[in-house]
Amino acid sequence: RKNHVRLPSWLKTDIPVGEDFARLKKDLRGLKLHTVCEEARCPNIGECWGGGEDKTATATIMLMGDECTRGCRFCSVKTNRAPKPLDPDEPEKTAEAISRWGLDYVVLTSVDRDDLADGGADHFATTVELIKSKAPNILVECLTGDFRGKLEDVARVARSGLDVYAHNVETVENLTKYVRDRRATFRQSLSVLEHAKKMRSDLVTKTSMMLGLGETDEEVLQAMKDLRAIDVDVITFGQYMRPTKKHMKVAEYVHPDKFDHWAEVAKSLGFKYVASGPLVRSSYKAGEFYIRNIVK
Ligand code: SF4
Ligand code: SF4
Repeated sequence: RKNHVRLPSWLKTDIPVGEDFARLKKDLRGLKLHTVCEEARCPNIGECWGGGEDKTATATIMLMGDECTRGCRFCSVKTNRAPKPLDPDEPEKTAEAISRWGLDYVVLTSVDRDDLADGGADHFATTVELIKSKAPNILVECLTGDFRGKLEDVARVARSGLDVYAHNVETVENLTKYVRDRRATFRQSLSVLEHAKKMRSDLVTKTSMMLGLGETDEEVLQAMKDLRAIDVDVITFGQYMRPTKKHMKVAEYVHPDKFDHWAEVAKSLGFKYVASGPLVRSSYKAGEFYIRNIVK
C-alpha cells in the first residue's frame, strides 16, 4: 500500500540549473554561509540564484545558527531552548562573503533566539551595517522574528540601514495558535511591522502567509485588511507543504487560480507588490520586486 501523498501537478517542479546558478553554488562552498535556499531545498533556487529573467540574483542567508528556541508546527528547524552562543565574528564574515559574492539582493534571516536579551537584534543590525559599508549597492532585507514584541529590538534592526523589513504572520489570526509557536500572536506580529515603519517611514515592510492550513476566505481577507491598516507594502502567498509526518497536515492544496485571485485582491487593497503562487516563498525573487517596483 502506497502511503505517500500524491501532489497536484502544479507542485511538481524540476530545479533549473543555469550558469549563474552553478557559479553561485560553487562560490558558496568557499564562503561557508548557510543559505535557506539550499538547506530548505527551495524549489526556486535556480530562478533566485540564477537571476531569473531580469538577472537579479537573490539569496537568503541564515544567521545565529540552526537551532530555534521556538517550535512552530509547520517548521522543520530543530528546537533547542539553549542554542549555542552567537559567533561574534559572524556579522563581519557574512558581510565580507556577501560583498564578494556578487548578489543584487540578500535576505538575512534567523532562527528565533528568545534566549538572547535582545533576541539577536544587534547581531542582525551589525551585519546590515557591515554589508552596507562594504557593498552599498546590495539591497538588504531582514526577515526577523517578533522579538517577543519588544519594540526597541525592532527599532535597532529598522534603523540599521536595511531596505526591506520583513516579518511573517504566516497564517490568519484564528489559526495562529495552532500553526505558530504559542509565544507568537497575530497582533504581536502586526506590532512589529507597524513599529518598523514608524521608525523609518520610507522603509518597505513585508509579510508572508502560507495557504492550505485550513483558513477561510474571510479570514484571509481580514488578515490582508489588518496588514494594510498598518501600511504593510508587500505580501506573498505560498502553499504550505508538510515537512515531515510530525508536522501539521496540509488541509488543502490551493489551486493556482485561487492564488491569482488573492494577488488581485491584495493589489486592490493597496499592497505595492504581491507574489502569490503555490511555490512562492517569502523571499521568492525578492530582488525583482524591489528593484523593479519600489526603488525610485
Ligand atoms: Fe521555525 Fe521560525 Fe518558528 Fe523557529 S520561529 S520554529 S525558525 S518558523
Ligand atoms: Fe532562496 Fe528564498 Fe529564493 Fe528559495 S525563494 S531560493 S529560499 S531566496
